[in-house]
Amino acid sequence: MKGTITTIQRMSIHDGPGIRSTLFLKGCDLRCAWCHNPETWSARPQLQYVAGKCIGCGSCIAVCEARALRFAEKVMVDRSHCTQCGRCVEVCVTGAMSWVGRQIEAEEAVRELLLDRTFFEESGGGVTLSGGEPLLQADFAEEVLRGCLAEGVHTAVESNLTEPWPTIERFLPLVRLWMCDLKVADSAKHRRWTGLGNERIVENLHRLAATGTPLIVRTPVVPGVNDTPEAVEALCRVIAGLNGKVAYELLGFHSLGFGKFDDLGMDNPLAGTPPLAPEKLADLQRIPERFGLKRKF
Ligand code: SF4
Ligand code: SF4
Repeated sequence: MKGTITTIQRMSIHDGPGIRSTLFLKGCDLRCAWCHNPETWSARPQLQYVAGKCIGCGSCIAVCEARALRFAEKVMVDRSHCTQCGRCVEVCVTGAMSWVGRQIEAEEAVRELLLDRTFFEESGGGVTLSGGEPLLQADFAEEVLRGCLAEGVHTAVESNLTEPWPTIERFLPLVRLWMCDLKVADSAKHRRWTGLGNERIVENLHRLAATGTPLIVRTPVVPGVNDTPEAVEALCRVIAGLNGKVAYELLGFHSLGFGKFDDLGMDNPLAGTPPLAPEKLADLQRIPERFGLKRKF
């Protein structure tokens, strides 16, 4: 069983408890305006051009039969003409032109993910599936999680919970920790900023919490989107209504990773948005406490 991934990140300390290896799967059905991993939106491999690595040798332009490349201070890619033949990537010696995304067998992914298992054991860590939305490649994700569990390794999944409940239910025996976002409480506003309403997400959160599996709900707090006390209170009302082993975290928006939009020739709807001030985040983080919500289990 093959899946399409962007990368396997080893020694991660932000994707669940302990030291973890995180598998980033390609493909997502949300389009969050503040996304730090836009390279995972498309389910297919994508051509990426990183101007900072380019020495302007022109080799890529010379081999591009589709005439999709030209030079104007840097290489300009006309993606409407690109046939994805890959010749430019083959001739680019600096790696400025590259593919984002590769296919990998589930068995091979498990092998790579478990390279650091000694660290998992010492730190209480494990393996996390992230993305993109990992459940969109359900068969591949299932095989990877089964492989990790068979080796006694803790499994976590970061999911946007947009999939129908039967898909999520299928993963219940395979996931020891769920990490799921609820970004905006108002569904119309959620649709405006992510492309989809939140009704199914909220319903899935209730069902998932009721299973008793540990669930960390997270909200990225983004200036101009959900950075007011009213917006956070509305979110807290939803999270406080979940019955189960639930923790709730507010995370501050930052623009790290926004350069990827340029590299992939994608529009960035929040370009130029400043990071959330730490004091503002600290103030907002006090609100969940009033609703009896804890950051950790
Ligand atoms: S081949 Fe690579 S280094 Fe040379 S111009 Fe093209 S992108 Fe830049
Ligand atoms: S992938 Fe092929 S068609 Fe696309 S820019 Fe590179 S050489 Fe041109």
